[in-house]
Amino acid sequence: MTRRILLLGGTTEARKLAERLGHDARFETLMSLAGRTRSPKPTPVTVRVGGFGGVDGLIDFLAQNPFDVVVDATHPFAVQMSANAAKATARTGIDLLRIERAEWTPVAGDKWTSVACLEAATNELAEMGQRVFLGVGRQSLAPFANKPQHHYVIRVIDPPDIPAGMTHYEIITGLGPFRTQDDIELFRAKKIDVVVTKNSGGKATASKIAAARELALPVIMIERPKLEVGTQRVKVPSVDKAMAWLEAHYVSSTKRSV
Ligand code: NAP
Repeated sequence: MTRRILLLGGTTEARKLAERLGHDARFETLMSLAGRTRSPKPTPVTVRVGGFGGVDGLIDFLAQNPFDVVVDATHPFAVQMSANAAKATARTGIDLLRIERAEWTPVAGDKWTSVACLEAATNELAEMGQRVFLGVGRQSLAPFANKPQHHYVIRVIDPPDIPAGMTHYEIITGLGPFRTQDDIELFRAKKIDVVVTKNSGGKATASKIAAARELALPVIMIERPKLEVGTQRVKVPSVDKAMAWLEAHYVSSTKRSV
């Protein structure tokens, strides 16, 4: 019996899981993307693009397209979509599996300042220096326009809309994974004083953390927002664990937990 999966994507994990599921006849997978990245990498599964229209829209979508499970592999900072998926699956009784990669953690000698949000990050800048490497994603630039006295080196996947008021900046486009040595050279060439990043975790963009460590640069680390839903959910940290959970629940004769 083929099992149907709605895979909420926008991350490396979602793409890697799609690569495995797309070649696995036991599963039929639809990957959903918000549509933020202009040219997403190709995937062997069917893809739909765009929001569902909130919790109610997602419930309608699930009613019209029966799935056995929703796999929420969205980014740790995509809390709205995760909250909507938790509420919609709770109301419809559809299984929910969350893939959430581990956070980055500092090692001895790291000069991290942890903050709760983008605005708090901007408030730390004055103490840290003039030239700022911004690795927060193109949707998250607006608060930094309130500190126009800094020069921002902004690395993004697609060219961003520059928020009004941000005057000193340069854009570097690229899709990870990046190499630590390249980021060391970049930070040296751009005379970076401080690195600002979300605590996304994962390998693809960890090079900026390693490069900051190597150059003894301060890092302003925006910690993950908390999900404001009390719904029970199964959470796994990796694609391997997600695949094991799917197999245990929908292929093996005996259910077990990861
Ligand atoms: P968000 O704030 O949690 O979601 C805002 C709205 O975008 C959702 O309510 C939903 O619209 C739509 N949406 C988000 N993910 C979707 C998906 N996979 N499929 C269909 N609709 C989706 O999300 P976000 O922070 O803007 O992130 C958008 C996408 O970029 C996500 O896929 C996420 O994994 C990826 N991403 C985000 C970050 C980040 O820092 N936030 C970083 C890397 C990648 P409706 O309410 O209309 O359904």
